[in-house]
Amino acid sequence: MLAAILSLVVIVAALYALTQVGGVIALLFVAAVLFLAYRRLSLRAFTATFTVLLTAYTLLGAGGTAAFTWKMVLWALLAGLWLLNVRPLRKVLITRPFLRTYLKLLPRMSQTEKEALEAGTVWWDGELFTGAPRWQKLLAARPPQLSAAEAAFLEGPCEELCGMLDDWDITHERADLPPQVWEFLKSRGFFAMIIPKQYGGLEFSAYAHSCVLVKIASRSATAASTVAVPNSLGPAELLLHYGTEQQKDYYLPRLARGEEVPCFALTGPRAGSDAAAIPDTGIVTRGMWGGNEVLGLRLNFSKRYITLAPIATVIGLAFRMFDPERLLGGQSDLGITCALVPRHTPGVSIGRRHFPINIPFQNGPLQGKDVFVPLDFIIGGPAMAGNGWRMLVEQLSVGRCISLPSNTTGGCKAAVWATGAYARIRTQFNLPVGRFEGVETVIARMVGLTYTMDAARSVTAGAIDGGEKPSVPSAMLKYHVTEMGRQVANDAMDIHGGKGIMLGPNNYLGRGYEIVPVAITVEGANLLTRNLIIFGQGAIRCHPFVLREMSAARNPDRVAGVDEFDRALFAHVGFTISNAVRSFIMALTHARFTRAPVQGPTARYYQHVVRFSASFAFAVDVAMLALGGYLKKKEGLSARLGDVLSCMYLASMVLKHHENQGRQQEDLPVIEWACRNLLYHAQEQLHGFLRNFPNRPLAGVMRALIFPRGRIYSAPGDRLGRTVAALVTNPSETRERLGAYAYRSPAGANPLARLQEALLLAVQLEPLEKRIRVEGVKTGRVSALDLPGRIQQALAAGLISETEAAALRDYDRKVMDIINVDDFEPHELAAQLQPAARSSARIA
Ligand SMILES: Cc1cc2nc3c(=O)[nH]c(=O)nc-3n(C[C@H](O)[C@H](O)[C@H](O)COP(=O)(O)OP(=O)(O)OC[C@H]3O[C@@H](n4cnc5c(N)ncnc54)[C@H](O)[C@@H]3O)c2cc1C
Repeated sequence: MLAAILSLVVIVAALYALTQVGGVIALLFVAAVLFLAYRRLSLRAFTATFTVLLTAYTLLGAGGTAAFTWKMVLWALLAGLWLLNVRPLRKVLITRPFLRTYLKLLPRMSQTEKEALEAGTVWWDGELFTGAPRWQKLLAARPPQLSAAEAAFLEGPCEELCGMLDDWDITHERADLPPQVWEFLKSRGFFAMIIPKQYGGLEFSAYAHSCVLVKIASRSATAASTVAVPNSLGPAELLLHYGTEQQKDYYLPRLARGEEVPCFALTGPRAGSDAAAIPDTGIVTRGMWGGNEVLGLRLNFSKRYITLAPIATVIGLAFRMFDPERLLGGQSDLGITCALVPRHTPGVSIGRRHFPINIPFQNGPLQGKDVFVPLDFIIGGPAMAGNGWRMLVEQLSVGRCISLPSNTTGGCKAAVWATGAYARIRTQFNLPVGRFEGVETVIARMVGLTYTMDAARSVTAGAIDGGEKPSVPSAMLKYHVTEMGRQVANDAMDIHGGKGIMLGPNNYLGRGYEIVPVAITVEGANLLTRNLIIFGQGAIRCHPFVLREMSAARNPDRVAGVDEFDRALFAHVGFTISNAVRSFIMALTHARFTRAPVQGPTARYYQHVVRFSASFAFAVDVAMLALGGYLKKKEGLSARLGDVLSCMYLASMVLKHHENQGRQQEDLPVIEWACRNLLYHAQEQLHGFLRNFPNRPLAGVMRALIFPRGRIYSAPGDRLGRTVAALVTNPSETRERLGAYAYRSPAGANPLARLQEALLLAVQLEPLEKRIRVEGVKTGRVSALDLPGRIQQALAAGLISETEAAALRDYDRKVMDIINVDDFEPHELAAQLQPAARSSARIA
C-alpha cells in the first residue's frame, strides 16, 4: 500500500515537473523515449531516434529557465550516448576498468560446478529470463503423443501389471513385490523403456515413459518406484551415452531382458546432498582378473539408500579415482568416475535392506572392501576416467524431468479422482461433504495443483522428445511437482478423515501419503534444490548475457575477450534498462496492452507472465550487480527468485497444456485457478525478495518499478473454488481428462473404479434421495435415522417403487463398502522380525 502511495506521489510529481519544462511536448518526448526502451531498440538505433526526438523537443518545447536546464541535461546525456557508440573509446574508458573489477568479483568455479552449469539445454526457461518471452517457441511445439505401440503397451501390459498389484500385500504382508510381478516387470520390458530397440528395449518416448509411470503410480507407489529407477539415471542411461560398444553390446540386451537388474550407487553416509564430495576411492593398480594380471582399480566404498541394491546384479558405482603411481601416465587425482561392478565381485557386501517409510521398494546399503575390477569396467572405458560427474549431471536433466514428476502426478491423479467421488458420496450434516465451502476450497486446490503438475510433466516430456535436455526445468519440476504432491496428499487425507488413516486392504490413500518424503528427498533434496539449484543454476545458465560475460572475461585471448565482454556488457545494460521500463509500464497498466499470442479467456494470463518476466529479469540483474557472488550465499533470495521463475514456467506449461488439449472450454475454471495461484505466488515471492533485499535504497527503487500499484494479484477466490470443485465431485469431461492415464479399470476391485461407480449412482439417484427428504422426512412420513431405514419407510409410504428402493439399497451397500475401514486381530499387526535381525538393525 505504502509503495502504491509513494509511486503515485512520484508519478504526479514527475508529471508536474514535465508540465514545467515543456508541457505536452515534454510528455510526448518522455513517452517516446520510454516506448523505445520498452521496444528494446539497439544502442545505435536508440541514440539516433533519441537525437531526432530531442531536436524536436528543443525546437517545439516551451522556453523558460527550467525547460532550458532540462534540455541541457538531455543534450549532455545524448552526447554521452554518442560516445558510447564509439566502441574503441568505450572499451578504454569503461569496459577494461569494469572488467578488472568484474574479474576480482567473479566467484571461483570448480570444474564440477562448471560441468553442472554447462549440462543440458536452455529452452523455455531461457525465454523467461528475457523479459519478453517469444511465445511461438513454446506454442509451436507439437503436442506430445503416444505411438500405436506405446498406447498398446499402456492398454496392455501396463493395465495387466496394475491389475496384478495388491498394495496391502506388497506393503504389509510381503514387504516386496510378489515373484510373479518381478517376473512380469522384467519380461515385459518395464525396466527397458529407455533402451533402444536394437538392444531389445522398448525405446519409448519421454512422454510414453512418463505416462507408464503415471499409471503405475496411481496404483502402487512401491511398483512405480521400482520401475522408475532402471529407466532413470543409472547404468542403462550412462551406457547409452558413454559406454563403449563392447559394454553396450554386453549389458544393454541383458538389461532389456531383465537378466541384469541395475542400481546406481552415489550416496554414502558422508556425502548426501554434496554428492561430489564422496570419499569412496578407486586406486589404479595391478591385479588378477580371469587368471591374468591386468591394470585395474582397487575400490573401497560405503554407500547407502541405494534403490534396487539388495537385488541388483550390476552396480553402477561412483567413486573418486586416483593414480598415485601414475600407471596411466597422467595426473594422480583423476576425479569422479563411474564404473560397472558385478554383484558377485569379491569384496562387495550387498543384500541388506533399508525400510523406506513403509514403502518397501528394494533399497539398501552397499559396501566394498578392496574390490578389484579391470579398468575396462569404467563406463566408457579408461578414456572416461574422471568424467563421472559430467556424465551424471549431463544425463540428470532428462530423468529428473520424468521419474519423480510422473510418479507424483500419478499418485495425485488417483488422489483427486478418489477424493472428488468420496466427497460426493460421504454425507455429514445431511449433505455431501464436498458441498461445504471449506471442503470445496481444498478440493479446488487439489484439482488446480494436479492440473499444473500434469501440464508440467507432459509439456516438458514433449520438449524432451523434441530434442531438449532441459536442466533448469528439471530442477523446477522436481521441486515444485513434489511439493504440490505433498499438498495434494495432505488435502486428500484431510477430506477422507479417518478413512485415509486406517491402514489395511481397503485403504487407498495411506501409502501415497507416506511416500511423500521419499519424493521430496531423492534426486536432489528439495531444500537444496529450491535454495541452491533452481535459480543458482538458472541465473547463469539461462540468462541471455551472464554466461557470455563470464566466458568472455575468462578468455585467455585478451583482445578477443575484451571485445566479446564489451558487446555482452553493453547489450546487458540496455537489456536491464529496457526490463526496468517494461516492468514499470506493464505493472502500471496491469499488462493490459501487452501482446498475447492467443485471443480469448486465457490471453490475460499470457500478458501477466510477460509482465512478471520483465520484473523478474530486472530484479535478477539488480541483485547480481549489487550482490555478486554473495547472492549464492543469500539462499533465501535465490530461492524466492527461483520460485518466481518456476511460477512463470509452470503457468506457461498450464497454458500450453490447455492448447495441447484442444482448448477445452470446460477446463477454463481450472486454468484460471492454476494461473491465478501461480501468478499470486510469483507476486508474493517477488515481494518477499524485495523485503529481504539487503540494500534497502535499491530495494526501494526496484519496488517502485516492479510494484508501482502495490500487490494487486489475488489468490483464487471461493466462488472459483466452488466451480472447480464441482468439476470433480460430479462426472465431467474435466474429471475424465484429469484422471487420464490413472489406473481406473474395474478389474480386481480397484477402489478408483468403485468410487467412480458410486459417484455415478449418487448423481443418478439424487432425485430419489431428494424425494424421500422433501416428501418423507420433512412431512414426518419418514423418520428413520439412516438410509436403509429411510428406504424401507419411503417404500412403505409409497414414495418410491420397489425398483427404486432396490437401486437405493444397492447404492447404500456400495457406498458403505467404500466407507468401511479394516480392523485386525491384535496378533495380525505384530511385526514378525527375528530377534537377531532386530539387534543387528539397531547396531547399524
Ligand atoms: C528412498 C531413497 C532412495 C534413494 N535412492 C538412491 C539411489 O538409488 N542412489 C543414490 O546414489 N542415492 C539414492 N538416494 C540418496 C538421495 O539422493 C539423498 O538422500 C539425497 O541426495 C539427500 O542426501 P541426505 O539424505 O544425506 O541429506 P543431507 O545431504 O544430509 O541433507 C539434509 C537436509 O539439508 C538440506 N541441504 C543440504 N545442503 C543444503 C544447501 N546447500 N542449502 C539448502 N539445503 C541444504 C537438504 O536439502 C536436506 O533437506 C536415495 C534416498 C532415499 C531416501
